[in-house]
Amino acid sequence: MGLANYLKNRQPLVTKSFCYGLTHDQLAHAYLLTGEAGTPLKETALFLAKSILCDHPNPLADEECITCQRIDRDEYPDFIFFDGEEDSIKKDEIRDVVNLFQKTPLERKGVMIYVIHLVENMTLEAVNSLLKFLEEPSPWTYAILTTQNEDKVLPTIVSRCERLRLILTPRKEVYEEAISLGVNKEDAEILSAFYNDGSLLKAAAEKEDYQKLKLAATDAIDALSRSPHYARFIFEKDVMPLVSSKPAARFMFDLLTLFFRDIVAYKAGNPISLTSYDKIIAEAAKKLPHVDTSLLSIMTLRGEIELNIRVGLILTHLVNVLTKE
Ligand SMILES: [Zn+2]
Repeated sequence: MGLANYLKNRQPLVTKSFCYGLTHDQLAHAYLLTGEAGTPLKETALFLAKSILCDHPNPLADEECITCQRIDRDEYPDFIFFDGEEDSIKKDEIRDVVNLFQKTPLERKGVMIYVIHLVENMTLEAVNSLLKFLEEPSPWTYAILTTQNEDKVLPTIVSRCERLRLILTPRKEVYEEAISLGVNKEDAEILSAFYNDGSLLKAAAEKEDYQKLKLAATDAIDALSRSPHYARFIFEKDVMPLVSSKPAARFMFDLLTLFFRDIVAYKAGNPISLTSYDKIIAEAAKKLPHVDTSLLSIMTLRGEIELNIRVGLILTHLVNVLTKE
């Protein structure tokens, strides 16, 4: 029920508009869900799709019925999810959906839904295949597309969709909500930069992968203050093995960005956001040379992850920049 509460409390306009469509049989055939980085776009898109298919909607998904569970397990044949966060979406994949969705639905609900998360990460050819599909939707087909950057989505796609916009909650509010839910201070400080809701933040903080990445990032910052040689060793031993997937690599670069922003701020005498880590941030501000350049390099190299350059190479490059004396 986490997401239903989130939508009702934090996104009343989106909730009202979508619930109206559900209860009056007036859903649009294509929605474009927009929201800045940090808003739960993927979770919301999946939840709205479930709300259309749910056996006992109220009017949103109950997340308990067999259908909701089958969607979660990716076992519902009339529902397809593309994750542009994992990889760019190719033409062949879209063509497969187009072919599949030209057939009639398999389930007795008689509705087919596809979700494309981060539609801006589609190749141009995939976009063209999708356009034909959006132009002539079959009466039983619904599309939910998401984007963090509407300017990067072709206007011809935007114009065929009804837009739903998620509003970003201030970081301080998310932090306070997380603390009230029992999240510790350091996780609330870090993850409020990534999640826009206390309950979603709490769920993320409990994941083992996150805890490992956090530890590796803080060890790496600490190692940089000690010696370039030791830092290279820590990056090789602790960081490298954790970032083999694109999402993990992105998260690691975002974590390092977060820390280096604070190191730069500390050096300039400005307040920092990760106060739980004030000691290693102060130490790094004192010991590290050219922190402005380092921050810029981290942000630039993060962009290379999307260019399909091997993460190992990008990280090696980063370590060379960070340990340059
Ligand atoms: Zn359900």
